Amino acid sequence: MDDGSLARRFPNLHVSSHPLVAHKLSLLRDTGTNPKKFRELVRELTWLLGYEAMADLEISERPIVTPLEPMTGAKVEPRIGLVPVLRAGLGMVDAMLELIPSAEVWHIGLYRDERTLKPVEYYNKLPDAATVQVCLILDPMLATGGSSAATVDILKHWGAARIKQVSLISAPEGVATLSTAHPDVDIHVAAVDRALNERGYIVPGLGDAGDRQFGTFAGPASEPGHASGETAEVVRRLQRSLTHKE
Ligand code: URA
Repeated sequence: MDDGSLARRFPNLHVSSHPLVAHKLSLLRDTGTNPKKFRELVRELTWLLGYEAMADLEISERPIVTPLEPMTGAKVEPRIGLVPVLRAGLGMVDAMLELIPSAEVWHIGLYRDERTLKPVEYYNKLPDAATVQVCLILDPMLATGGSSAATVDILKHWGAARIKQVSLISAPEGVATLSTAHPDVDIHVAAVDRALNERGYIVPGLGDAGDRQFGTFAGPASEPGHASGETAEVVRRLQRSLTHKE
């Protein structure tokens, strides 16, 4: 399924068409990009995608005085919450805080069981009621969509009124999973790649976004080619549900 038909099927999907995004994303994917440069690119891409993702935030009028005269200025109204998906989403937080310094950062710990690809919650310290109106879920890779859909469930239960997902690269399977579960969640990405491989990695993708940011390359078990039969079956199921709905 190409980007166009995916975007027609899921109107909540927004794929950036900015040339700078395309340029920086190619540098990010390249195996020759070291962790320092990789982190810089994640930051720059997050600025650009964050700028696009926040284009529809409500503003109110605010009287200000320039050195020459009074005028009506603008103030972004909603309180914003940033929810990085640990650990790879951490690299997107600083860039977003540069765009919106008043944003709150909330952590929900979910890890992806590498066999079943299902999200497992291990940390959640949200207060009883939502303290923000708009939540931005930050995850460089929207792969199966399982962690994102689970994070949205938690945030909606918390009372978040609007939720957006900002990712650098997505797989069609992940877009379908998240959009089907939560059609009201806007998804902002730099690219939709071809597919998930049998281990749940996005191809062509960029490999493991956490390892590439933090320089943790632990050996064969963390390499994209290392698959279990159970994982491959989960990916095949996601792929079947994607094509059956076309
Ligand atoms: N997480 C990653 O870091 N990379 C992928 O390709 C998929 C999930």
